[in-house]
Amino acid sequence: MKLHKQSSVRRDEEIPTAPTSPYSPKTFKHPRSLPRSINYLFKEQRLLFILVGILIGSTFFILQPTLSRIGPSESNSAIPRSFSTGSTTAHDQVASYSKSNFGSGKVGRIPVGIGNRRLRIVVTGGAGFVGSHLVDKLIARGNDVIVIDNFFTGRKDNVVHHFGNPHFELIRHDVVEPILLEVDQIYHLACPASPVHYKYNPVKTIISFFSNIIAYQPDFCGYCLVTTNVMGTLNMLGLAKRIGARFLLTSTSEVYGDPLEHPQKETYWGNVNPIGERSCYDEGKRTAETLAMDYHRGADVEVRIARIFNTYGPRMCLDDGRVVSNFVAQAIRKQPLTVYGDGKQTRSFQYVSDLVNGLVALMEGEHVGPFNLGNPGEFTMLELAEVVKETIDPSATIEFRPNTADDPHKRKPDIGKAKDLLNWEPKVSLREGLPLMVSDFQNRILNEDEGKGLK
Ligand code: NAD
Repeated sequence: MKLHKQSSVRRDEEIPTAPTSPYSPKTFKHPRSLPRSINYLFKEQRLLFILVGILIGSTFFILQPTLSRIGPSESNSAIPRSFSTGSTTAHDQVASYSKSNFGSGKVGRIPVGIGNRRLRIVVTGGAGFVGSHLVDKLIARGNDVIVIDNFFTGRKDNVVHHFGNPHFELIRHDVVEPILLEVDQIYHLACPASPVHYKYNPVKTIISFFSNIIAYQPDFCGYCLVTTNVMGTLNMLGLAKRIGARFLLTSTSEVYGDPLEHPQKETYWGNVNPIGERSCYDEGKRTAETLAMDYHRGADVEVRIARIFNTYGPRMCLDDGRVVSNFVAQAIRKQPLTVYGDGKQTRSFQYVSDLVNGLVALMEGEHVGPFNLGNPGEFTMLELAEVVKETIDPSATIEFRPNTADDPHKRKPDIGKAKDLLNWEPKVSLREGLPLMVSDFQNRILNEDEGKGLK
């Protein structure tokens, strides 16, 4: 206490107070400090130096973005000068993502390493039939592509021509397990897609897309309990949400079941048997669509949904139970073409390059979907068998077998929505497309290397 008192007395001694009244208000403590600091500033032209410093700093920050835009790197830059042309190219996509991620819509300075990089895209199921053709297109466009596949029905042979390309990566991974990657777009195709494979292990098909976990997801749908989840899709949607990537789901015309509306429009809700043999696939895809929409509505994930109709082309699995590959393989092996039922059920068949163009148009467009992607040309199974005979072996015979359960009687897409909003329609007719897959099938059958190659 004593010490404290003494020090306060000393301070009081330093501060001049008004001599007259002891009750005068408290005086300002350091009246001489202001002029002293001003003196300090003016001495030796310190103020001038400070002002010149501020001027140089502001000039640099004002001019720097302009200089970086007109600099020599411009010709290689992935960032367009204007957004007015819409997001149609890969480079535009990078820009539009930066724009949407930062919300302002202004073209700001892009951090080093982001501005010039190529669009990075994941294709799950990229070693499969459709996936491998999609990968070819994306690589040809100049994108960096990462394929995730567990090789359940896919083959390394389908993507082996990209091995050694620095813009291609292949990861053996089951999408039922989560994975963390930094990408701009996710094409989610991974799924056993043919009846032979999805019926072989229906529970796995369901688990790829279905799990009895109780997921608690307060971040986007409040306190919502999700008792069943499509795990593969859920994992990929979770990834898309975390990294702000755009997500495309490859759903199927099977969501329409045995349709009561013909041709099928996207507004039709379908007629699916929930307990049939094929329901592991149909209901799995329906749930995947629901999840995608919930992530879109609840978590602002940019989703795109494609409902794919029967597609054919090179690299389809041999003997996978799909009608086109069955007929083509049988005709090449000089076996009778097996027609199930009376052969009057109809399907429409789309060549794979048309589908790939549709998927890319959908991913890059501004519409969520769902969109039917298929060829509206409608054929009965018997008509298809005739085209296969004409193309491969006119002497081939037809063998009738009892039909499978829940086989849809009719299938034909209404593609009006995709035409209007995606400016997309298929170009390759069945008679043009079928010969394009024959040599691939012939090679694989003759070499008898299916299942023995690099797989
Ligand atoms: P596909 O069987 O040739 O390809 C599927 C790929 O996914 C394969 O490479 C397979 O190994 C992989 N895969 C399966 N389960 C996986 C898992 N759990 N983890 C990682 N990879 C896995 O089939 P496709 O014809 O290329 O079909 C691709 C997508 O398009 C599928 O989602 C399918 O449902 C859909 N689709 C295809 C058609 C068609 O006619 N081809 C029609 C409708 C929908």
